[in-house]
Amino acid sequence: MTSRPRPTTRFAPAPTGRLHLGHLANAIYVWGFARRLGGRVLLRIEDHDRQRCRPEYEAALLDDLDRLRLAADEPSTNELRAGPSTYRQSDNGPAYTAALDQLATVADVYACDCSRSTFAAWREAHGRPWSGPGCPGGCLERGLTARRDLALRVALGDDDEAWDDLLMGARSGPVSPEGDLPVRDRNGNWTYAVCVVLDDIRHGVDLVVRGEDLVDATPAQIRLARLFGRETAPVFAHHPLVRRPDGSKLSKAEGATAIGELLDAGRSAEELFGEAAFRVGLVEAPHPRSLDEALQLLR
Ligand SMILES: [Zn+2]
Repeated sequence: MTSRPRPTTRFAPAPTGRLHLGHLANAIYVWGFARRLGGRVLLRIEDHDRQRCRPEYEAALLDDLDRLRLAADEPSTNELRAGPSTYRQSDNGPAYTAALDQLATVADVYACDCSRSTFAAWREAHGRPWSGPGCPGGCLERGLTARRDLALRVALGDDDEAWDDLLMGARSGPVSPEGDLPVRDRNGNWTYAVCVVLDDIRHGVDLVVRGEDLVDATPAQIRLARLFGRETAPVFAHHPLVRRPDGSKLSKAEGATAIGELLDAGRSAEELFGEAAFRVGLVEAPHPRSLDEALQLLR
């Protein structure tokens, strides 16, 4: 499978912290694939988790993108600064509510009162973690009344989805690896899966370029998109992550890796592009590179 000519992809950070070298590596892949395929890049603010996201982090990431001259085709950073946007998840609650209502007509959507300790107790009793459809509490069969303080799950099935990854080749996996997919958490937040799948449909995204930590989540997202009415799944490209020396994922900007702080300290954008490309194995040494040079590494 190859992507359609002139695909639409997206750079979609969550404002839970500062932009870091991992985001920059993702940006090189996103803008690099777009340039290679003659496509366009959308900028999306993934702030579906209202407890973890903060407006000051969004402001900082927009400033960081401007300083790096990473401009999306749509929207501009100033459009996002100006107010509500279709490209900011917290501004689009009604779209997710409507989608969930539609989803409930084609799949089992149900309230679940299982907590982390419910899953832990099941693991303790059975010597392995819960896997496959359902949940340890049998909540679908119990038919709990939906409440704001209960999570919602959707039953996606007991089978697999497969895709041809632009970077990883032929892949497949179960749609319900760790139970039925959560669609809303017990704090009332729409989940990552619901937001990204629906946004990619709403915005016409047909090329998803993201870190390989999301490979295992992909089968469920392909299935969910189909239930939302999407006939053709997006093309996926899962790239290596920037990791710490011990191999763990770089998830939050920690002092030395926050883009804004590195620029403030006098590092150039070229040095940061070079280091990000090096950290994901696109080049053999962390030499400074212009944005254009970094994007050509994807050719
Ligand atoms: Zn449950």
